[in-house]
Amino acid sequence: MSTKSGLTQRLAIVAGFEDPTVSLEQYRTPPELAAHLVHTADLQGDIEDRTVVDLGCGTGMLALGAALRGPTRVVGLDIDPDPLDTALENERKVASTTNVEWVRGDATDAPLRHAEQTTVVMNPPFGAQSGNEHADRAFLATAAAVADVSYSIHNAGSREFVESFAGDNGGEVTHAFGAEFELPRQFDHHDADTQVIDAEVFRIDW
Ligand code: SAH
Repeated sequence: MSTKSGLTQRLAIVAGFEDPTVSLEQYRTPPELAAHLVHTADLQGDIEDRTVVDLGCGTGMLALGAALRGPTRVVGLDIDPDPLDTALENERKVASTTNVEWVRGDATDAPLRHAEQTTVVMNPPFGAQSGNEHADRAFLATAAAVADVSYSIHNAGSREFVESFAGDNGGEVTHAFGAEFELPRQFDHHDADTQVIDAEVFRIDW
């Protein structure tokens, strides 16, 4: 297993959204946070020899992080074809040994079925700014349907919601950690140059 900082370095090359769509909440997860999530998952035995599905993969940050850590298969799913083109270019740059299958589709109505040994990783739209509170709920529902374990990034203050959603759907939150990340100035509603988001990451055993 490479180190977490080694993984961060390899992910630093992953390009973000060229022309982000506000309503889809498109922003790239910072390499440090992606590496932390994937490294933690790997230490838990949730990456190696497993299928990893990235719901709302964007330009591929989480999928590519997983691909650098010995999974049997990686699928990246996004509703928007534009970032998937960038994801393919990112895959070439990262040069992982495991190929990623990039699929265009709706993560809330996923063309996936439950399979054994499947880990979902995701940084879904939060819905907080668009007034579409808990847009992440439908992504969690898909994780519950297709995976036995998931790692998901949510906005701060989501713990109660995530724990109760997991409990209602046969899951349990086993790990939680906080993370801060900077959003580049790319959306109109951000008035500062950068905005720091307080996020929370949860591991759910489904
Ligand atoms: N996972 C990437 C991108 C996060 S941004 C990263 O960590 O860098 C959220 C992503 O979810 C965007 O790429 C957006 O296009 C995608 N998305 C939003 N709604 C979606 C839906 N219903 N189905 C699939 N993808 C969706």
